[in-house]
Amino acid sequence: MIIVKTPREILAMQEAGKISSTALKLAGEAVEPGVSTLEIDMLVKKYIESQGASPSFLGYNGFPSSTCISINSTVIHGIPDKNCIIKQGDIVSIDIGAYFNGFHGDNAWTFPCADINSEAENLLDATKESLYEGIKTAKVCNRVGDISSAVQRYAEARGYSVVRQFVGHGVGASLHEDPNVPNFGSRGKGPRLCEGMTIAIEPMINAGSGEVKVLDDGWTVVTADGKLSAHFEHSIAITKDGPVILTNCGPDAKN
Ligand code: MG
Repeated sequence: MIIVKTPREILAMQEAGKISSTALKLAGEAVEPGVSTLEIDMLVKKYIESQGASPSFLGYNGFPSSTCISINSTVIHGIPDKNCIIKQGDIVSIDIGAYFNGFHGDNAWTFPCADINSEAENLLDATKESLYEGIKTAKVCNRVGDISSAVQRYAEARGYSVVRQFVGHGVGASLHEDPNVPNFGSRGKGPRLCEGMTIAIEPMINAGSGEVKVLDDGWTVVTADGKLSAHFEHSIAITKDGPVILTNCGPDAKN
């Protein structure tokens, strides 16, 4: 069941989005050679709690951390660890949710650690742009498939593969609500988008094949071929004036 939000609820979601996206920006600023993913996780937890919010992911289905930090060929759901040290040239995907006043804000970004090679840089650029292509189509009366198709077409036109096993989702009082928002699909298919829907669009784009596997820890998702993967996500609201990014204080914030 898709839960439509009132304008007042969307304002509340903007508050959660502000906290989760500010946390994401801070996390990105902490990405440096020699820093452990656990250090970044602790920093994010501290910031979110300082705002009177709580980290959405901590304890979610038993997830042990406040953030997911996924390096290079790890796609999503990497568990922060003191022994996982970021190196020069890595690409570091950080996914953060914050729960505040009854609502979640969910967002992700892949950060370069210092200088990355052009192969990695192109993947980051394509994945970020595929997210914005998806957001552009998130308009009243379009369908979820229009978003899915926009993401897929953009990523594939640049020579990349979309991950099919994990998808975007509705977001609101629950971290994951209906509908699913896949990064692949057909225009004109799927649930119709209407005013007040709030969804998280999150392309996970692989340099090689779209196949992924889950490691023995039950969480960490990696590319099957060991090639790079990137992940960008925004929570958005569908309004009569077009899509509104709720997580708009992050690395791409317009000052
Ligand atoms: Mg999400």
